[in-house]
Parts: sequence; structure tokens; C-alpha cells
Amino acid sequence: MELTGLQIFKYLPGGKKTENANCKQCKQPTCMAYALKLAKKQVEPDVCPYLPDELKTLLFEACKKQQNEIIFGANNQTKIGGETVMFRHEKTLVNKTIIAIELNCDDEDFDEKYFKIKNYELERVGEKFNIETIYLCGKKDIELRAKQLTEDGFSLIIKTENPETIDKLKNLNPIFETESECPQATNIIISSQNIDEIIEKYQKIHKIGHQNFVINLDISTKPISTIVEELTYIRRLAILNREESFAHPVMTKIPENLNHYEVLTLASILLCRYSNIIVIKDIDYATITSLLTLRQSIYTDPQKPLQVEPKVYEFNEPDENAIIMMTTNFALTYFAVANEIESMNKPTYLIVTPSDGMSVLTAWSADKFTSELAAKTLKESNLAQKVKNKKIIIPGLLSHMKEELEEELKEWEILVGPIEAYQLPEFVKNNF
Ligand code: SF4
Repeated sequence: MELTGLQIFKYLPGGKKTENANCKQCKQPTCMAYALKLAKKQVEPDVCPYLPDELKTLLFEACKKQQNEIIFGANNQTKIGGETVMFRHEKTLVNKTIIAIELNCDDEDFDEKYFKIKNYELERVGEKFNIETIYLCGKKDIELRAKQLTEDGFSLIIKTENPETIDKLKNLNPIFETESECPQATNIIISSQNIDEIIEKYQKIHKIGHQNFVINLDISTKPISTIVEELTYIRRLAILNREESFAHPVMTKIPENLNHYEVLTLASILLCRYSNIIVIKDIDYATITSLLTLRQSIYTDPQKPLQVEPKVYEFNEPDENAIIMMTTNFALTYFAVANEIESMNKPTYLIVTPSDGMSVLTAWSADKFTSELAAKTLKESNLAQKVKNKKIIIPGLLSHMKEELEEELKEWEILVGPIEAYQLPEFVKNNF
């Protein structure tokens, strides 16, 4: 845990009210000023000659990395690890879990499977997702294929025991899974079924010269309860205990011979607890879509909700008879409303207000969707010059703003829309 300024202050002469308190030898006016700066790492610990050993130990522990971040792929496009908390609500999760699909160079259906991987695409709440990482194994033309996949933009995890292959492919900046000693491989996987063995292997191979490690916990023969227990234990050792042997991202491979439902269930659990990379053998679009949807929810920073650009959006070629609606820039709200407008097939302007990505009621209660702001946004949109009917639909949850808006926008008729987006078509049918 990081130390706060107050926690540090308690150990200093100023905090203990002893001799030398506020002596200014650290070039700070007081011990408290020094403690606050030390907590923010703006000053060095050794400039105070009266720092007790106990505090030095605590500061040393606090400086240890909890989980290393690994950046891989030829264009450094994929990041894993770097987590600092056990749960998202404590702060935020840093790098999303990577869903890697296995491609075996020796398989006859290599090209067919690769075609499916390349063509997978998901767009959800304004974000686009593809498969970004491939777990490449097998021997046939592995070097050629690795280069081709890299050119197509994929980051790679490569399983090989051939040191020559490692040497030739290291420039692609992949993660290597290998038992052979190859110091030239920067990112390397430590594989084991057993947590104690991970420590042994780490201590043995981190001297060889590799820089980054990924722990591959073999879960193939374990029941789900044991898998969750062990992965939680590893994450706790990394985050809470700052154990060096476990300060690395974790990879798990979904065992073979599971049906799609079992793959989805297990991969969903691994996504929540606590796999940084999940390797899946087959590309089944329904499974991948479900996992990426779950991942998007888990890895959205709760302090930075998904949002769309605040502006006027046009639907179905709006003209002078267009309908005008207003909502906030919370992405889920926007897409719910936008989908209904698209399905109505009526020319419409949708004014999206700048509300820091908050939903309608939250924005109102935080003063981010006020009648003044709504009126100002409508005036700045210049829609009064573009439409004949001066009618605007406001969200149903803000019915109490109707009178205030009528005061602000005298030439407009304010219609209180429905509470739920799906009720919009019926509402428009009855009012236009
Ligand atoms: Fe306090 Fe140490 Fe700075 Fe003196 S040198 S003011 S004791 S923090």
C-alpha cells in the first residue's frame, strides 16, 4: 500500500514531537511539508537524516511493483498486467484481460480458422473490438506464419522449443512459451500446475536475463473452485504482499474437450478472477462476443463512464419537419435512444448535452443537466433556424424541468418524453 503524508509524518521528529522537529535540513519548512512531498515522491527519503529504519522499510515495501506491466506485439500494441488493486471499485483496473485464440501451424484448417479470427469484429456502445492476440503453436512454417500474422496487426504468444525460431522471431516482440533457455527472449512464460513450483522456476530463470515474465497456471485438471482459489491467491500475493515471484501477469488456457457453454462459463470466471491472458482453442463468435461484452463492463473505469461526444446528431436526413430530442452524453443512454430513432425511420435531430458521461437523473442531481444548460445547448445548436415546428422532447425523467425550460425557451414547446427509450416510437406517433 502507498503511504499517505500523514502516515509518514507520524514517524518523523515533527510527528513524534522530539528533538530536531522541523529542523529544515531537508530544505522543507516543516516535517509535515516533507512528509506530504515524500508521499507524492517529490523528494528523496535520504535527505532527512532522522528517518527511522522502520519507516525506511515501509517505504521500500511501498516502492515494490505489485504487478509488472508487459507491453508486447511488434508495434507495442498490447498491454497486460500493471494492476494495483484487487477490486475495480478500490481504484480502477489498468489493462484489460486479453482473449487470445490458439492457431496451430500443423492444423489443416489453419487458414480457415485464421480467416475467422481476422474477420471477427464487434461494435458495442461506441467501441470496436477485434481479436488482437494469437497464441501460435505447432512447427510447420511457424516463422513465416508469425511474420504474416504480425503484418496483419496481431500481437503473438509463440509456443516453441526451437532456440533458432526464438532468435528469428524475437524482433516481433512476442511472448514466448518455451522450456529451452533463451536469454534473448525478452518476454517469457513460466508454466506450472503448482504454485510452489512457480517460485522455484522464477528464481531459477530470472537470473538468465529475461526481462518480463508471465505466469502460466496450468488449470487443465483442476476443478473450478481450485482454479479460482489459486488465481486469487496469486493475485493477493502480488497486490497485497508484493511478492516478487508473483508480480507478473497470469495466463490461463481453457482446457480442450469443453463445449461452448463450458468454455464461456470458465472463461467468464477467469476474466473476473484473475487471468490477464485467456487462451481459447476455437473461435466461436457467440462465445467471443459474450466475453468481450463482459470484459467491456468490467474494465470500464467507474470514474470515467463510457461517453459520446456532446453535439447534435442527425438521423434519417433531417429537414425542416425534423423531430428534435435531447439527452445526455452517457454512452448507454445515447445508444438506447439512437437505436429507437433509427428504427422509427423519421428525420430527427438528437441534441446530446455535455454531462460528463452521466445518465439523465445522475446528471440532473449533479447539476450537469440543468434547464440553463439545456436551453443554452439548444440555442447554440441553431436548430431554431432549421425547423418549422419548435418542439423539443426532453427525457421523461426530467419532467420537473418543463416549466423552467418554458421560461428559458419561450418560442419552444417543451414535450416531456417517455422514461424508457423503447417507448419513443409510440410517443412520437402520438405527438407528431
Ligand atoms: Fe523534519 Fe527531517 Fe526535514 Fe528536519 S530534515 S524538518 S526532521 S523531515
